[in-house]
Amino acid sequence: MHIVTPCIESTPLSHRRGFPVWLKLENTQPAGSFKQRGMGAAARAAVEAGAQRLVSSSGGNAGLAVAWAGRTLGVPVTVVVPSRTSEGMKARIAAQGADVQVHGEVWDDAHARAIQLAERGGALMHPFDHPDIWEGHSTLIDELPHEPKALVVSVGGGGLLAGLLMGLQRRGWSTRVYAVETFGTDSLFRAMEARRVVDRGGIDGIALTLGARAVAQECLRRSLDWGVQPLRVSDRQAVEACARFADDHRMLVEPACGAALAGLDQVQAEDALVVVCGGASVTPADLASWLATTR
Ligand SMILES: *Cc1c(COP(=O)(O)O)cnc(C)c1O
Repeated sequence: MHIVTPCIESTPLSHRRGFPVWLKLENTQPAGSFKQRGMGAAARAAVEAGAQRLVSSSGGNAGLAVAWAGRTLGVPVTVVVPSRTSEGMKARIAAQGADVQVHGEVWDDAHARAIQLAERGGALMHPFDHPDIWEGHSTLIDELPHEPKALVVSVGGGGLLAGLLMGLQRRGWSTRVYAVETFGTDSLFRAMEARRVVDRGGIDGIALTLGARAVAQECLRRSLDWGVQPLRVSDRQAVEACARFADDHRMLVEPACGAALAGLDQVQAEDALVVVCGGASVTPADLASWLATTR
């Protein structure tokens, strides 16, 4: 349901930081992000349990990953997206054979509609809060050739982080984990400070993919247990990191991923691995416009 992605040393980032920096290139998953791991595993489990249809409410990388998984498994997929979802992303999801429906202006509206559709016969695929998803994301750690001293990853709802912590625990590793958010999407940072899940009411800024108002309980629990270090970066830092990554490695990623690359600047370690989480619908024009407009 996903591919084994390359893990390469980044000469430019190693020079920048003064220690070896490795990149796990989840942007090379065919569906454009690590979401393919978790959504693929969850979709397979749902179909094995008898689901006749998969329903997703994500207008982002998770929706595309569900569409990809459904096509691979031969089950129909409906993706309900809010009206602010870009035409490019809708076209990519539709190109996987999924039925794309627009409902409401924000994700909560689309999600409410997806719940209704799923009740009429379908499995609702949550974007980050399910054990099958964490299990799928944890396969990233199984693929690492050696134990990194530090691991840098961005956090939205916390599905990826929860899965990576599961994977690290399974390998018996004691890697220091840095979890990066933008200031406008810092739901894990706030939850770790308060030691309970905090609803931050809304989200701000450019890293929409990191915009969960609250992190999954499981992510917070594991983060506190592990002693995860939460970090925050500005939108500008995230965008500049995307631009640098394009120059250095000739690949486009979205600001949610640029956040992890920017967070690396706050890490001191003998070596570090950055999860290049991806971004399925970034164009060169998007990058140019973010650079021109983001402060
Ligand atoms: C979904 C996503 C994230 C955040 O993942 P969570 O599991 O919600 O924390 C980060 N980056 C990209 C590119 C994503 O698609």
